[in-house]
Amino acid sequence: MKRVLTGVAAVVVVVVAGFFTVGARIADSVMNTVVSTAVPAVSPAGSALHRRLFVADLHADQLLWGRDPLDRSTRGHVDVPRLQEAHVALQVFAAVTKSPRGMNYDHNTGETDNVLLLALAQRWPRATWTSLRARAVYQAERLRDAALRSGNTLTLITTRDELAAFVDRRAGDPAQVSALLAIEGLHALDGSLASVDTLYAAGFRMMGLTHFFDNEVAASAHGMTHAGLTPLGRQVVARMEALQIIVDLAHVSPQAMQEVLAMATRPVVVSHTGVAATCPGPRNLTDEQLRAIAANGGLVGIGYWDGAVCEPTVANIVQAIRHAVQVAGVAHVALGSDFDGATRTPFDARGMAAITDGLLKAGMDQDTIARVMGGNLRDFLLQQLPSSPAVLRAGR
Ligand SMILES: [Zn+2]
Repeated sequence: MKRVLTGVAAVVVVVVAGFFTVGARIADSVMNTVVSTAVPAVSPAGSALHRRLFVADLHADQLLWGRDPLDRSTRGHVDVPRLQEAHVALQVFAAVTKSPRGMNYDHNTGETDNVLLLALAQRWPRATWTSLRARAVYQAERLRDAALRSGNTLTLITTRDELAAFVDRRAGDPAQVSALLAIEGLHALDGSLASVDTLYAAGFRMMGLTHFFDNEVAASAHGMTHAGLTPLGRQVVARMEALQIIVDLAHVSPQAMQEVLAMATRPVVVSHTGVAATCPGPRNLTDEQLRAIAANGGLVGIGYWDGAVCEPTVANIVQAIRHAVQVAGVAHVALGSDFDGATRTPFDARGMAAITDGLLKAGMDQDTIARVMGGNLRDFLLQQLPSSPAVLRAGR
């Protein structure tokens, strides 16, 4: 009887595990969609220009969904083969560590935890069941492991010297792709200032203070309080600056944005956003905010999904980019796709040339296009990343 029960238990475990694995795939397929699976047509002039550019993107959530970054998938938006096909040189990969059930742009609490279900479904290590920091570290390990397995195709960038070397190498081999690690929401600190150093050591070089709910560091644009930075948040921002970790203000409340900009001694980014002038909404930047980011020397990544540009079309992305360039200035605008961020986009990563083409057709000059499509982000990182990881041992 005992043997029968053990057998039944084993079957139950297999069925449940199978259910979860399938569930994770279904969630990926349902939540990360495209308007069209066809690669958009691009003019010969647009295509030729695109292939001459250093194309870079400030935000994708690929690490959440259990797809190997090195394998071409028919699900979701981003993987290395699709980035290669789209001539993308640099992709920022963000670790998402907790997202609420019924996620919306207005009011969310941190009481529910959908990422736990994905972690269980994908059999993440046990530490990730209870520690958000462990979830971030695990996602970083997965990207690092992919880079190691890639045979030099994928390079994880942690210093400005590594990026400079990559830029040189890639000039002779356009199939090379680089990646930078970011975090979406500092609930990933598990409430501890010392976690900033742990996450730096894990390779993270850009950190968004909040995601969809208020956390120990700051209030979210989609949280309950719409307050600003907490006292811990001020310490965290100061420690990030000391370590040369880039502060990302995507998703923060307007008050938190103001407070960070008032204390910042280094340029910040808003990694993935829309602009309120072309698509009003609580997570899109007003002209005043665009000017404040520009005054800080920061970068704004324009997104491709409906929350950023309302209707997800190339025309709307182009319109948002042109507005941001007009208000913030050419030097402060970049791309922030939010690919794989539970988003619906016009195309997957293969369609990136359509943006170059759209900007060209809209009459934007080639130098401005080159900067927006990635030149600005490349130069920003060459200035802002630490020159060597040794800085970790300094300070404190
Ligand atoms: Zn986001």
